[in-house]
Amino acid sequence: ESFHDVDLGEIIMGNITLSRYTRPTPVQKYAIPIIKSKRDLMACAQTGSGKTAAFLLPVLSQIYTEGPGEALQAMKNSENGKYGRRKQYPISLILAPTRELALQIYEEARKVAYRSHVRPCVVYGGADIGQQIRDLERGCHLLVATPGRLVDMMERGKIGLDYCKYVKDLLHFVPLECGGVCCCCLSLSILCVSVLSYLVLDEADRMLDMGFEPQIRRIVEQDTMPPKGLRQTMMFSATFPKEIQILARDFLEEYIFLAV
Ligand code: AMP
Repeated sequence: ESFHDVDLGEIIMGNITLSRYTRPTPVQKYAIPIIKSKRDLMACAQTGSGKTAAFLLPVLSQIYTEGPGEALQAMKNSENGKYGRRKQYPISLILAPTRELALQIYEEARKVAYRSHVRPCVVYGGADIGQQIRDLERGCHLLVATPGRLVDMMERGKIGLDYCKYVKDLLHFVPLECGGVCCCCLSLSILCVSVLSYLVLDEADRMLDMGFEPQIRRIVEQDTMPPKGLRQTMMFSATFPKEIQILARDFLEEYIFLAV
């Protein structure tokens, strides 16, 4: 029982050590290998169980080690480290019920992402939206959000949860038979990193209790969101009542159920 049982990569392992996590908690022990194997997950876990790191560690490790990380680095370099003021397309989205939880997840994400080029951002209601927009415009790969504020950001056109527009435009010009190694494919692979690949619903039961179901459905069921199967979806909830079972049926693809 050690974090070394799964290959999370050097940077993440170093950050686990810096966080002084010596051994995985039960939810981490079971959830990390499931997420690394790219399966959807429905996990019943309480606050304080270490559930935040249970999804952040494998998601960040995947972003970092599996291609998108390198492509992101290339994109960043090609822009001299500046993203410019434009709409952001995060690779991972984490929905949380409250400002407090969103901030906690964000703080943990910053620790786990330390010394990687993955940039976490957080948006929540009841705070200055202008400042949050300016922060997003500096680049965002992993977004932690409360549902109401995220819908607001989407309506203002500050966040896209789909392929970036360049990819769609480019697709018209790339010959399909080019065999994978050409300038078009190279630029395509660099621009293709902006595909939302990971979706996490944290404390899903609390989000429903707080009346966020319409906003959550609006976010997850919009037609630009990659459909289940093309994204990896993880739901965490302390309880597993009928409403959560329905959400799991609607949002998850052949998921693994974990109760700790
Ligand atoms: P959570 O359930 O995600 O809210 O985590 C509860 C607390 O446990 C947080 O303060 C984490 O930083 C901490 N924590 C998470 N995983 C571990 C671990 N493997 N070892 C020690 N502390 C941990």
